[in-house]
Amino acid sequence: MAETLKMNRPLISAEAITKSYFRGEHKVPVLQGAGLTAHRGEFISVIGQSGSGKSTLLHVMGLLDSPDVGEVILDGNRIDNLNQAARDQLRNHVFGFIFQFYHLLPELSLLENVMTPLMIRHSILGYWRHRKEIREAAMSMIQQVGLEHRIKHRPSELSGGEMQRGAIARALVGRPEILLADEPTGNLDASTGGGIMDLLKSLNENQQLTIVMVTHDESIAAQAHRTVRLAQGRIQTIAREDAA
Ligand code: ADP
Ligand code: MG
Repeated sequence: MAETLKMNRPLISAEAITKSYFRGEHKVPVLQGAGLTAHRGEFISVIGQSGSGKSTLLHVMGLLDSPDVGEVILDGNRIDNLNQAARDQLRNHVFGFIFQFYHLLPELSLLENVMTPLMIRHSILGYWRHRKEIREAAMSMIQQVGLEHRIKHRPSELSGGEMQRGAIARALVGRPEILLADEPTGNLDASTGGGIMDLLKSLNENQQLTIVMVTHDESIAAQAHRTVRLAQGRIQTIAREDAA
């Protein structure tokens, strides 16, 4: 019984999240009791209109932002109320993020960009001691996304699809359990976006990577296992037929 419960325990859940922003004196409610649960190996898409709070929900789940009310639970433990150092640690080890505009560092090569999450785990001395394995881990991730011929390029010398592949390599180099993807194909043409979706699906299937992906594109959303809709500040589960 205990074993069954443990196996059914969600990997990550956002529970009854409320979050408002202030525009001057004016309080703008964004999330009003939103809840979302992902089990290990699930690929969930969140759809909703622009401004419905999709990014806000993803940021709260990944500890980039705090809820006003509600809890984020990782593998049975509340994590949203941890101190800054513990939250930073979880963000670096448990979550990988990708964004619509890639957010690669423009001054660094692709290889350096992908090495960054592993470098910041170490002191400068620790980095020098581990630099060979950090470089190898980054190279291996870059190979997985098919960019080994681009390691010395800066982001400005890469195409949109290549930048997003690079961002995926950076997000995954630290072996996170959960990938949070915010409109990952939103800035790409359909065929390049399809390539990114194929890569995400293969990472999900082959490595049991848990993915929560935000998109406003219903045909992209339909490629996940399950789609939910964010509207009026809450998550509504929708039938697959409605999502397609
Ligand atoms: P979506 O990703 O679905 O387009 P967002 O989560 O980005 O929606 O934003 C939801 C609402 O919250 C929008 O009205 C937006 O203007 C507002 N908002 C988001 N982030 C902030 C912020 N840091 N400060 C003030 N308002 C914000
Ligand atoms: Mg958004």
